[in-house]
Amino acid sequence: METKRPTVPAAEEILGGYFPVLDHGFVALVDYMGSDEDVERAARVSYGYGTRKVSATRGLIRYLRRHRHTTPSEMVEFKFHCAMPMFVARQWIRHRTASVNELSARYSLMPLLFYTPAQEQFALQSRSNKQGREGGAPPEVYRKAVEEWEGMRRRAGEAYGWLLEEDVAREIARIDLPVSTYTQWYWKIDLHNLLHFLSLRVDPRAQWEIQQFARVIAGIVKRVAPLSYEAWVDYDLESRPLTRTERSVLARLLDADDQGVRTRAGGSASRDDLGAAGLSAREIEELAEKLRDPGAPDFELDLSRMRSAEEMGAAMYEAVPSSFD
Ligand SMILES: Cc1cc2nc3c(=O)[nH]c(=O)nc-3n(C[C@H](O)[C@H](O)[C@H](O)COP(=O)(O)OP(=O)(O)OC[C@H]3O[C@@H](n4cnc5c(N)ncnc54)[C@H](O)[C@@H]3O)c2cc1C
Repeated sequence: METKRPTVPAAEEILGGYFPVLDHGFVALVDYMGSDEDVERAARVSYGYGTRKVSATRGLIRYLRRHRHTTPSEMVEFKFHCAMPMFVARQWIRHRTASVNELSARYSLMPLLFYTPAQEQFALQSRSNKQGREGGAPPEVYRKAVEEWEGMRRRAGEAYGWLLEEDVAREIARIDLPVSTYTQWYWKIDLHNLLHFLSLRVDPRAQWEIQQFARVIAGIVKRVAPLSYEAWVDYDLESRPLTRTERSVLARLLDADDQGVRTRAGGSASRDDLGAAGLSAREIEELAEKLRDPGAPDFELDLSRMRSAEEMGAAMYEAVPSSFD
C-alpha cells in the first residue's frame, strides 16, 4: 500500500536494516516520522509540503539551530532497536528524554552474549583523565584478561543455566550475569534530544564503546534529516562557545567588522598574557583546543555491513541457554 506519509529515500534504504556494533551489538532504525521538511513546516506552521526550495529549507534549519530555536526539531521522531552491553546501556539510559522498552530478564531468557574488547581497545588507565584510557596494555595482559573473562562468563552462564533448570525464577536466576552481557531495547526519541545525545556520545570524552553506537546513529540521522545533521555538525558538534575572557583576548588580536576579520599587526598572546588576562592553565589548554581546525567528521554508514533482522535475531536466539529454547 502506498503511503501518504512523508518519506526519505535514503532512510527507506536502511529502514529495518541492522548495523552491527562491537562484537554482538547492533543498531537498527525500525521507524521514523518526518524529516528536514517537517522541521521547516513546524517553524513556518502555515506552509505545506513541496512549497519551498531546498536552499530555503537549509537556510531556515541552520538559522534555527544557530539561534537555539529547538522545538521544530522535536517534530521529527526516530525509533531504534539496539543491542548493547549492560554497562553501555547504563550510560545510554541516563538520557532521560527518550522512551525505552528493554528486554525483560524477568520474563525472557537472556542470550549469553558478552562483550570482549578487541586488543586495540584494551588500554591502560589514563593519567590525565580519570574517566579515560590511554596507550595499549601489554599483549600478555590482554591474553590473560580474555582468559579471565571467559572463565568468569562460563561460570556465570553455567550458574544461570543451572538455576533455570532448577526452575528458579528468571528474575532471580539473572542476578549475577555480568555487565558485559548484552541487553537490548527499543528506543524512541525526537531529533532535538537525539542530537543532544549524539553531541555527548560521539565526543571522544565519552567511553569508546558508547561512541561506536552513537556514530552509527549519527549516520542514520544523516540519512533521515541531512540538513539538520549538517547544521548539528556545524553549530553544535564542532562549535565551541567562547568565554568572556577568551573573547576579550581574541578581540585584542583580531579586527572584525562587516568587511571581514583581519589580524592586528604584531598581535600575539603568549601563555603569560593569557594567564594575566585571567585564564587558568586548564582554560589555556581548552582555548588552544577550541581554536584548532576541527576538520569534517564523517558518520557515513557502511551499507555493506547492514544485516537483516532475521540474521540478527538468529544470533541472539542461538545464544539462549540451549536446554530452554
Ligand atoms: C563524558 C561523560 C561522563 C559522564 N560521567 C558521569 C558520571 O561520572 N556520573 C554520572 O552520574 N553521570 C555521568 N554522565 C552522565 C551525565 O551527567 C548525564 O546524565 C547524561 O549525559 C545525560 O545528559 P542530559 O541530562 O543532558 O540528557 P537528557 O536526560 O536527555 O536530558 C536532556 C536535557 O533535558 C533537560 N532535563 C532532562 N531532565 C531534567 C531534569 N530532571 N531536570 C532538569 N532538566 C532536565 C536538561 O536540560 C538536559 O540537558 C556522564 C556523561 C558523559 C557524556
